[in-house]
Order: sequence, then C-alpha cells, then structure tokens
Amino acid sequence: MNAVLKLDIQDSFEVFQSMAHKQLDESLEKLRPLFEQDKPPTLLEISSALQEIKHELSGALLQEAAHSLNQQQRDQEFFPCPHCGRLVKKRDASRKIETRHGESLLTRPYCYCRHCKESFCPMDEALELSPRKKQFDLQKLALKFLAKMPFEEAAQLFYESTGMSFSDHSLHDFFSSFAEDMSPAKGELGT
Ligand SMILES: [Zn+2]
Repeated sequence: MNAVLKLDIQDSFEVFQSMAHKQLDESLEKLRPLFEQDKPPTLLEISSALQEIKHELSGALLQEAAHSLNQQQRDQEFFPCPHCGRLVKKRDASRKIETRHGESLLTRPYCYCRHCKESFCPMDEALELSPRKKQFDLQKLALKFLAKMPFEEAAQLFYESTGMSFSDHSLHDFFSSFAEDMSPAKGELGT
C-alpha cells in the first residue's frame, strides 16, 4: 500500500470517527430525562429508552461510514458513462435506505448521460445497493421468515426482531417479485 493511499484511509477513518462521536453525543442527550427523574427508572424503562435511540444511532453510523469510505468518489466531479464512456458531470442526490441498523440517508453522485439517455450512480454500484429501499440484509431476513410462516405472522416477527416495519402487503409484493428481479445466479441472497 503506498503512503498517499494509507494517509487517505487514515483521514477518512478520522472523519468517520469524529462524525460518530458527534452522533453519539446527540443520541445520548435523549437519555438525559432518565437521569432527571425523581425516582430512578426501572431496567425496563432504561431498556425502552435505549431501544428508541438505537436505530437512530446505528443508522447514522452506517450512513457516516458509507460516506467516509467513499469520500473520494463523493468529491469527484465527472464519471465515465458505463455505456459509452463519455465523461458526465455529476450532481449530488440523496437516497433513503433501510438496513437492520435503521434508516440512513446517503448523499451520493448521480449522473445522467444525455447521449445514452441513461442515469447511473457509481456509489450505489460500489456499495452494491439494492434498488429497493430495504437493503439486502433485511431482504434476506424477510425471506427467512416468509419461508417458515404466513405473511401476517412474518411481518409481525420481522418488526419485533428488527424494529423495522415491513407490512404484510409489501412483504407479499416483495416475495412475488423476488423470483423476477433477483437472479439467484448473482448470489445476492445466497446465505
Ligand atoms: Zn453514455
């Protein structure tokens, strides 16, 4: 590994670390009321309060990690079109995703090639994002539930175990379209 690359990795880790500390402070602030009660909270109350900030914190950590790890690409102005190779100027576009860590908002380069009339998002490709809002970790888990039980029960247990909602209606749609838009040959849902 050359020295410049090593320095970049160090920098991006430090950026991530400082964003993570900031997020942790913000989330912990929401626990302050527990410390201001006259009667100390029960363990159940502490657990519920932690549950509420858990997804907010871990979703934000995932977001910052994805941003910091792709900072070079996020700073880049032009990208080659995957179809014709012409350089295309990017604009920044945000996209909401959901993983088992909660909701995250990714801001990444979005390009539209006028020649090919096609859009592409290099960072989505690098991260191997699912085109769906719910990402592959949640999809894999949903499929495991769906293989064992009816939609309604699967949706309920999915919510209880992940804290993320997946209505039985959307589970139904997901399951029906699974065979069409996700080729098992790609190994995306292999394990
Ligand atoms: Zn093109």
